[in-house]
Amino acid sequence: MSQSYVIIGDGIAGSSAAETIREEDPEADVTIITDEGEPLYNRILIKEFAKGKLPEAPIGIHDEEWYEERDISLRLNTLVTDVDVDAHELRTHEGDTIEYDKLLVATGGTPVQLPVENSDADGVHHFWTFEDARRIREHAESADSGVVVGAGLLGIDLAAICAAQGVDAKYLMRGDRWWRYALSSEGAEIVHDALREKGVDPIFEAGAESFETDDEGNVVATHAGDGNVYDSEFVGIAIGLDFNTEYLQDTPIETETGIVVDEHMRTNVEDVYAAGDITEFYDVVLDEHAQNGSWGSAKEQGSIVGQNMVAGDDEEPETFRWVSSYSITHFDFPFLSFGFPDKGDAECERTYGDQEWRRLTFKDGKLIGGVLVGNLAPQSKYKKLIREEVEVADQQDVLLQENFDLDDLETATDI
Ligand SMILES: Cc1cc2nc3c(=O)[nH]c(=O)nc-3n(C[C@H](O)[C@H](O)[C@H](O)COP(=O)(O)OP(=O)(O)OC[C@H]3O[C@@H](n4cnc5c(N)ncnc54)[C@H](O)[C@@H]3O)c2cc1C
Repeated sequence: MSQSYVIIGDGIAGSSAAETIREEDPEADVTIITDEGEPLYNRILIKEFAKGKLPEAPIGIHDEEWYEERDISLRLNTLVTDVDVDAHELRTHEGDTIEYDKLLVATGGTPVQLPVENSDADGVHHFWTFEDARRIREHAESADSGVVVGAGLLGIDLAAICAAQGVDAKYLMRGDRWWRYALSSEGAEIVHDALREKGVDPIFEAGAESFETDDEGNVVATHAGDGNVYDSEFVGIAIGLDFNTEYLQDTPIETETGIVVDEHMRTNVEDVYAAGDITEFYDVVLDEHAQNGSWGSAKEQGSIVGQNMVAGDDEEPETFRWVSSYSITHFDFPFLSFGFPDKGDAECERTYGDQEWRRLTFKDGKLIGGVLVGNLAPQSKYKKLIREEVEVADQQDVLLQENFDLDDLETATDI
């Protein structure tokens, strides 16, 4: 009898799992359920759409025919509301019951709403879906003033959208710099200067305390922690994600911030797996559980989990072993973070020029991550050191050489 695989979430993790399952098991019943109204698109590119730099078409990855051709059943606009792991079935918001032999949870996260007055006013945007991007683009095209809240990787996208759309924006940060968990003041200053050059004004030590609206409920101003009130017809908020685990709360599936899985993407419940942003996966390089919000990592987890869902009990499961990277392309210089730049027990950094800077982080003597600004040339060498778990923390001077080469390192084994 054919196996039935049900996947909740048609993001890159869920979709790449479905593709892998179909390749590995041509007879299987495969169903993907998503609450979004469109099939997989490139979430990384929706910021370029919102900036006005890309039309809709290149953002789509799969159309509905893609699923039909592979005999994958796609259910759009369908929210999964609860799962019964004993009965091996789930329920949708329409009251339908869907049975599964194996279940994949790949439901990612939802942006956290700022808990302050009027944060749900018209004109206050959160950014995760293509629909969000359409609303943001339309609004940013007509807005003159803006405020962005959230000093991280998504906040800077909203700031760059304001810049590209000619919105005169203030970028509020609660600390003294952008992405303070991974950048020192020196590294962050390169980003601050680049923002200013684009017309976005970073404001430090100042969160948003409330929003003011007009009679029609549209946001018009932001009251900030620095005591100022900033005009803001447009507000963009990116202060983190709530992982979409609510519909699993009556199940014994282990959750912390996200869903806890091992290095094979298995949850603690038989026949239930998870992949993508939602997982707190066992990272075999870091030797601890970790979470990672990046496209490449979610895609790889989808592929690994697909193989493991299909594999028999007597087969060795595939292991997720991956060094992620996340690049920012809003500025004249390239910017890349890799691995875990915000973790570890040691770090080193160096400035090479006005727009060139590097930082590396270590755990137990091994490189685990870093940030490269201006010069991405050494990225593949650093990633190799991470993957191969080489002890190099005592050779920081060599690692930080501008033209760093693996041959310059003294290591016990060949790299
Ligand atoms: C604006 C933006 C820019 C980004 N830029 C980059 C970048 O430059 N580089 C990079 O590496 N990463 C980037 N990311 C992050 C990257 O897109 C994510 O890490 C990746 O998309 C995660 O994929 P996923 O499949 O795990 O989850 P998601 O893509 O979030 O997919 C989960 C899906 O599940 C659906 N869902 C949730 N709950 C339910 C439910 N109960 N029932 C049915 N369906 C449900 C959701 O609606 C969603 O469609 C960016 C993200 C955003 C929003």
